[in-house]
Amino acid sequence: MTSPAPGDGPLIVVDSVNKHFGDLHVLQDINLSVGRGEVVVVLGPSGSGKSTLCRVINRLETFESGTITIDGQALPEEGAELAKLRADVGMVFQSFNLFAHKTILENVTLGPVKVRKMPKAEADSLGKELLERVGVQHQAAKYPAQLSGGQQQRVAIARSLAMKPKVMLFDEPTSALDPEMITEVLDVMTGLAKDGMTMIVVTHEMGFARKAADRVVFMSDGQILEQAPPEQFFTDPQTARAKDFLSKIL
Ligand code: ADP
Ligand code: MG
Repeated sequence: MTSPAPGDGPLIVVDSVNKHFGDLHVLQDINLSVGRGEVVVVLGPSGSGKSTLCRVINRLETFESGTITIDGQALPEEGAELAKLRADVGMVFQSFNLFAHKTILENVTLGPVKVRKMPKAEADSLGKELLERVGVQHQAAKYPAQLSGGQQQRVAIARSLAMKPKVMLFDEPTSALDPEMITEVLDVMTGLAKDGMTMIVVTHEMGFARKAADRVVFMSDGQILEQAPPEQFFTDPQTARAKDFLSKIL
């Protein structure tokens, strides 16, 4: 397979990726291509490999065979090139992992200043703009512990966006939140999707999947079993495992 040039072709291509954890074949010949501006929602039972897939795309995990390209560039094993490529891939997890001893604004500006070498004044103005975008501009001088979970997760999204990523990976971003805070985070994600951000989202929020996804990818036991537009997947799942999954979750 020839890699497309940057700016051309799909943004992410996962090609025949395999990974084991000991005896467990956690990713089994995974093929997934994500277009520019596309929103892919990954669904599947717990333990099916969704988080691992996100983590190999960001190289937080190694894999044994296959290739992953981001904007036409293969993921390097390590070093400065990896850091650069990784900065193109924003990631938001279930736990917000904000720096407890930094203010909200500092949490957002740290990456651009340290990794992107952005002048502090520019990073501050970008940070404020992003905090406004996620609706927590009034909390800029506070510390993470002073914010609600939903606010902290929105800060985590702003922090990722500050690196100007080409793609955003979300791994169950609302799973640790109290129900009343889920919507405010999903609304920010929906806004991002509308603005054309390329996104891979692992979630159990079926409303978000129906509304925001261009495509649903269904994983089970380390395999991608189905890929379809949400309407099609929810109304006419093809495999017994997808039917079973939907019957439990809907
Ligand atoms: P999901 O996100 O779909 O719930 P994961 O990718 O987290 O699934 O995990 C897939 C499988 O891999 C699970 O059986 C899990 O226990 C196992 N697993 C995940 N991370 C590790 C690890 N670091 N070491 C060993 N096994 C792991
Ligand atoms: Mg997971």
